[in-house]
Amino acid sequence: MPETIYILSGSNLGDREKNLDRALEKLESLPGLEVIATSAIYISEAQGMKGENPDFMNQVIMAEFLYRPNELLNGLEKIETEIGRTDKGKLKPRIIDLDILLFGNEIVETEELTIPHKQLLKRPFAMIPLLQITPDIEHPVKKRAIAEFLKKSDKEKVVLYKDHVARNI
Ligand code: AMP
Repeated sequence: MPETIYILSGSNLGDREKNLDRALEKLESLPGLEVIATSAIYISEAQGMKGENPDFMNQVIMAEFLYRPNELLNGLEKIETEIGRTDKGKLKPRIIDLDILLFGNEIVETEELTIPHKQLLKRPFAMIPLLQITPDIEHPVKKRAIAEFLKKSDKEKVVLYKDHVARNI
């Protein structure tokens, strides 16, 4: 049985919108993955990064995935490399960053993977596009609606750039 998964795609280097589009295109051809819905693209200031950094563009992708979380991670890393990401430095601008936010209701704690994503509830730029697709989604560990973790002030930090919610269902 496939699991419903949510991926956060982000870029703050080069042609950011094109980078997000390329990542989506490549996700669509990943074996075992079928894209169900994509959120709008949002812009927010780079958080926790040193010096002058361009704003981030972010988008959440909802999909069905047939295989295991580590296989998804391998696929995402391959796409990041193909798009041209060479630097994994946390505090530097990046052409593309693909994170697994949720993998069904699974809880994963390994050296390579933490699912739900460790920072999800601290990142309005992840929660806002996620909730745009599935407003009532629950956090599998907290067992509460993710919407409850979003503060009013968070909404001002994440600006709608391109409102296009696409669904294949
Ligand atoms: P970064 O690309 O800088 O966000 O870091 C990616 C690294 O974080 C990967 O090599 C993964 O091993 C690790 N990681 C841990 N949890 C996750 C997750 N939920 N999604 C993606 N990467 C994760």
